Amino acid sequence: MFDSGMRKQNILLFFSVLALITIGQAQNCATQMGVEQMKELRLFQQQLVSGTVNLGKKATVYIPVKIHIVGNSSGIGYYSVSRMLEALCDINHDFIPTGFHFYLADSIDYINDDALYQGSSDAIWNYAEDYKMNGVVNIFFHGVGSQWCGVYFPGVDVVFIKNSCQNSNSTTLTHELGHFFSLPHTFYGWENNNTPINKENINGSNCRTTGDGFCDTKADYVSQRWTCPLAWTLTDPNNVTFKPDSSIYMSYSYDECQSRFSEEQMAAMRYNVQQRGISTTTANIAALPAPVLKSPLNGDTNQNASGVRLKWHSVPGAFAYYLQVARFGAWEFLNADRLVFDTTAVVKLFGKWPYAWRVKAITAANTCTSFGVSDTFVTYEVPAGFAELKMDDELTVYPNPVYASQTFSIRIPHNAELIVNNALGQLVFKQNLYESTQQSFSIATRGMYILNLNIEGKAIRKKLLVQ
Ligand SMILES: [Zn+2]
Repeated sequence: MFDSGMRKQNILLFFSVLALITIGQAQNCATQMGVEQMKELRLFQQQLVSGTVNLGKKATVYIPVKIHIVGNSSGIGYYSVSRMLEALCDINHDFIPTGFHFYLADSIDYINDDALYQGSSDAIWNYAEDYKMNGVVNIFFHGVGSQWCGVYFPGVDVVFIKNSCQNSNSTTLTHELGHFFSLPHTFYGWENNNTPINKENINGSNCRTTGDGFCDTKADYVSQRWTCPLAWTLTDPNNVTFKPDSSIYMSYSYDECQSRFSEEQMAAMRYNVQQRGISTTTANIAALPAPVLKSPLNGDTNQNASGVRLKWHSVPGAFAYYLQVARFGAWEFLNADRLVFDTTAVVKLFGKWPYAWRVKAITAANTCTSFGVSDTFVTYEVPAGFAELKMDDELTVYPNPVYASQTFSIRIPHNAELIVNNALGQLVFKQNLYESTQQSFSIATRGMYILNLNIEGKAIRKKLLVQ
């Protein structure tokens, strides 16, 4: 019943209008609840009036989620798996009072698409659905470009979160999941600087028919992000002044102010889950011990950088393993950041460097586990069938290092194809170069890049630092 094409059409118009209006607002949520969805919520709220809904905590329900990580068309800009596992851990903490426990329904899908990466509303409307898994909560993490931090699209029924908006202690995902499970903002009716005809009184006398329709969330007229307590006072229709409740996830108070859903909001979400029929009664929530690493042996100094095979012992009950590899063990700059559904992974690295690696075991419903002890190895680089040539004096890259988005020039003595990879070995771009002609480029994202050239059968590599 939640997958109706009719509904999508009904609210398409509403969302198009909203998309125009939200341009220019920073770090907001762009969700506009669907007409049908609000109708259903209002009906449910009538049951709250009649007292037929039992408030208070119910048995835990386990809710499957599908994670989609969106990069640009070159596969750059993925949300880190580490953060994703932490985000799942955080929402499971935030939803404890609701009785919801989220679990991974499946592996992570990686999508390389410029428009989705930029959070384009049109793209989400037109084809985000194609990537959806049915019968689960679909969460997309995307990179840049949008004016908003998060959005739930009714009709398409997907949640989009901008990578930079879901860090440690963020509540962006919790807020958007609130929308997914039917909750409007506490300031419903005030979005986009509107003033509704009927304002909610602070004494609660019209709470069921105004605002979000919940009587245990206070009147709230603030549709922009605010620090708590609110710096100014609001005045209700009876001329009573007040400050809104900053603790509710569905308000626009800053993330650090928010800590709860109200009892009625939680009852509405439980009702929504029931209507959707997507929950299960059990999931493995065990906190697993970290696996013991097997090979290469700790300290090995003879690993071919083009494909290092890492193996670890299995952990009974594991749904997947989370693998990290980092040059010099600098875990904030990962060379591999992967969920692995096996006890082996082949990692493509580069250069003659010391690397450290570590693994944690997770169940689908418990991603909050720790890493085991990390091991190290050193790589060597095998020239692909021919000697790697030092041609630094012939391959000119200037300036190097270069600032992000600043132009740098490349000049070579022969025609060749330039292939630029990032530190993870992913392709950034390709370009034909012509002999003795200076060509200019720029790279917007900071990091270490590898310039690869094949000139007359000889491989030339040069590192470029974008800072
Ligand atoms: Zn919102």
